[in-house]
Amino acid sequence: MSQAGGGRRAGITVRAPGKVNLALSVSPRRPDGYHELTTVFLAVGLHDVVRLAPAPRLTVTVRGPGAADIPAGDGNLAARAVRLIARAAGVEPSVAVHIDKRIPVAGGMAGGSADAAAALVGCDALCGLGLSREELLLLAAELGSDVGFPLYGGVALGTGRGELLTPLEISDAGVFHWVFAVSPHGLATPAIFQEYDRLRRTRLADGERPTQERVAEVTDALNSGDAALLAAAVKDVNDLQEAALSLRPELADTLRLGPEHGALAGLVSGSGPTCAFLTESARAAATLATALSATGCYRDVLVTAGPANGCTAAPDWT
Ligand code: ATP
Repeated sequence: MSQAGGGRRAGITVRAPGKVNLALSVSPRRPDGYHELTTVFLAVGLHDVVRLAPAPRLTVTVRGPGAADIPAGDGNLAARAVRLIARAAGVEPSVAVHIDKRIPVAGGMAGGSADAAAALVGCDALCGLGLSREELLLLAAELGSDVGFPLYGGVALGTGRGELLTPLEISDAGVFHWVFAVSPHGLATPAIFQEYDRLRRTRLADGERPTQERVAEVTDALNSGDAALLAAAVKDVNDLQEAALSLRPELADTLRLGPEHGALAGLVSGSGPTCAFLTESARAAATLATALSATGCYRDVLVTAGPANGCTAAPDWT
């Protein structure tokens, strides 16, 4: 394929966003071992950049913070995604995938899922498969509960295991400014769910607010564009937070620190251990990030905004 200037398309680059869950209601474990979830995903402007190029065989390489902690090659979620889409389309998985990691690894921001989504989008474009959004979503659901959302980005309601997605139209009013404090050590999602089960068995679910009410509060607040309203709506909204704090008690200190330095709200992102802080403005986010960084307690402190777009693909020209 050539462009006007005579260059050749050497590959495809896909930017895939991370997410934070603004509501996360978790039901008891189902007979199939999964938990029923109701969640509001918000895509944020932290992206993994995934480059795909034709190659003699499937390879995956990774660079960036935390790259050493994730499998290169076959064990990588992006490799599974390439295999799956190639099998579905009846083509060879002859693709070299290179991932520039920016989304914290094992941080509850679904970075691996973002890479898998990027690989689906990238392969589709690279091989000219022309799959529809619905077809890509079906493949995404086979790969994992969080893989579908980066295909949409923005804001979406997730039900089932989180993979049944309804995009939520949010007014343009709201750009929300966030700071993410990344813990030095990741937390495995299965360990969090096990701890959630253990804690749930030891207490009654008294006083829990109905899920629909929580979701409506969050979406209303997003639509209002009012960060203070959103802060009130996301208070105690993550059912996995207690389990994350139980396994990592030091996260409570982090959550206390945010409001001391101007955060309107702080929550554990998804299954953690990254803590997400909502702030009033970009300036307030920068001030908070400086204060958190000064403690020296975090692997990284990241400033960003959301909602952000879903996976976007662009050709690489030589
Ligand atoms: P989850 O999506 O399960 O909630 P998470 O968001 O907390 O997880 P991820 O960064 O997605 O964290 O990583 C979860 C695990 O998946 C990692 O520990 C890693 O071993 C494995 N993994 C496989 N492929 C990737 C990838 N491309 N990027 C990150 N992790 C990957």
